Amino acid sequence: MKRLEFKCRRCGHCCRNLVKTTPTGRTLGLFLLPNETHLFPKDDVYPMYGCGLKGRARPRPAQIYVYQYGRNVCCHITEENLCKLHPKKPLICRTFPLMYYPELKEAVLSRDCLFMHDNIEENERVEKLIAPNEMAAVPELEHYLDRGSRHPPYWTWDLEQKKWVPLRMKDMVELIQDWPAALRLLT
Ligand code: SF4
Ligand code: SF4
Repeated sequence: MKRLEFKCRRCGHCCRNLVKTTPTGRTLGLFLLPNETHLFPKDDVYPMYGCGLKGRARPRPAQIYVYQYGRNVCCHITEENLCKLHPKKPLICRTFPLMYYPELKEAVLSRDCLFMHDNIEENERVEKLIAPNEMAAVPELEHYLDRGSRHPPYWTWDLEQKKWVPLRMKDMVELIQDWPAALRLLT
């Protein structure tokens, strides 16, 4: 049984490599809830996930429920790798390297975190994680993403293409499974 106690190294890697292109070809930045967009410069904030359908000539989502910060290096990271927003940083930064995916109904660990990358082998499962602060923030993310009023079709705003791209449920699962950081499931 793999037991792991998370100790953040304050390396800043996760705050300086925010934009990722998945193997399914989607380029995405830092996940932001609607009430967190004001924390970032307006010109660097884009929609991230949308749902429903609006417009025939130019189909797009009827509702945006997640936004994203589109810069690779966060404007709030100091030279000493401290977060200027802490403790009021975005929810995704408070759960990281834990994330919650409604499609899987599970919390997962990201090997984008250098601590996790060095401590978890490919395909290894972690059965016991000690990360009280990060784990305490996951239910809030779970609650938001599971809230249920969202309806298909689903969309992502691609930072590279600068447009809405339809997202099928199958793509969502692939997007999670194929994410370059090779996520590790928690039981
Ligand atoms: S808000 Fe803070 S924790 Fe989040 S990416 Fe920026 S510097 Fe890092
Ligand atoms: S990459 Fe991991 S170890 Fe490094 S600062 Fe981010 S959370 Fe901490």
